[in-house]
Amino acid sequence: LRTPRRILITGGAGFIASNLVYHWAEQYPGDRLVVLDALTYAGNRKTLEPLEANPNFRFVQGNICDRPLIDALLREEAIDMVAHLAAESHVDRSILGPAAFVQTNVVGTFTLLEAFRQYWDGMGQPDHFRFLHVSTDEVYGSLNPEDPAFSETTPYAPNSPYSASKAGSDHLARAYFHTYGMPTLITNCSNNYGPFHFPEKLIPLMCINILMGRPLPVYGDGQNVRDWLYVGDHCRGLDTVIHQAKPGETYNIGGNNEVKNIDLVHKLCDLMAELAPSLPAEPRSLITFVKDRPGHDRRYAINATKIRTELGWEPAETLETGLRKTVQWYLDNAAWWQPLLSAEYQDYYQKVYAAR
Ligand code: NAD
Repeated sequence: LRTPRRILITGGAGFIASNLVYHWAEQYPGDRLVVLDALTYAGNRKTLEPLEANPNFRFVQGNICDRPLIDALLREEAIDMVAHLAAESHVDRSILGPAAFVQTNVVGTFTLLEAFRQYWDGMGQPDHFRFLHVSTDEVYGSLNPEDPAFSETTPYAPNSPYSASKAGSDHLARAYFHTYGMPTLITNCSNNYGPFHFPEKLIPLMCINILMGRPLPVYGDGQNVRDWLYVGDHCRGLDTVIHQAKPGETYNIGGNNEVKNIDLVHKLCDLMAELAPSLPAEPRSLITFVKDRPGHDRRYAINATKIRTELGWEPAETLETGLRKTVQWYLDNAAWWQPLLSAEYQDYYQKVYAAR
């Protein structure tokens, strides 16, 4: 691939894409990074503040559904790669209001793909151009305890409006390669955790509630299983796919860390008790089982053999090392997460948990 690259990163003020921006700026300081983000409730410009003085970085507030804006950015910035991570990303919010998920995840991805196709075509279809579409393992649906883990050939069976909208966007990215030869790449990753994760998600939610002495809501019987990957490992995986994968390929990215939700919550309680100087209550005593999420998938598990054997990627963190880093990050960065516990957030929290 040609360097320096000129990359449009969508959703860069969100969790994973902001980690990717920092990873990329450190690994490839000569590359131009243009972040496009609508700054929804999940986007936080403060996360990227330390990069604002970097002449190779630009932040643009805008929507991925805004075609004229995207056309202008692609040309103006002479972009040769899109890393598309902007999305509505929270399953519980997709149950409360699915429309935004279809709009951003399906229509927004389509808008980006179509703008990039016409731009790439107009440039003579350069073979170093890439469009990376970042997706989730939730598109594969739910596993029973005895089922093999999801592989790249597992049929799609999304169960929530979130995963259905991501599945739709994956199919479009795939179709743009097969129909137009556009150099798309797709990754499907398991649950991420790490710095800059919005407070509504399980791991930050537990850390923050423990610090505030609030109940720790655990859905159903707590036996749902998720595979967890440290966000830094995901970003290295995306970097590997961008640099090494053949256009049109799909890779699953996972951490080999299958764990039941209740066991994860116990681990977080114990880590907080160890690392936090003083807590308002004994963390495990705060655990409260709440009515299950409708349509809650029982188990996700990723088979990451393809990316390991073909591209040589493996996670560097274990669940123990990654969780320790993450808990410490939330302890050290209250100034980042405290302002996010806004009135809008409290209202959402009431709707999801108080009613149960
Ligand atoms: P996030 O919710 O933290 O961030 C999403 C970002 O996208 C926010 O900054 C938001 O402002 C922006 N955004 C939303 N709608 C937009 C629009 N219409 N136009 C422009 N920007 C918009 O999400 P995340 O957890 O970092 O997830 C990033 C991507 O990775 C998503 O595509 C998600 O499906 C995928 N993914 C996430 C996980 C996970 O565990 N978090 C796992 C696998 C895949």
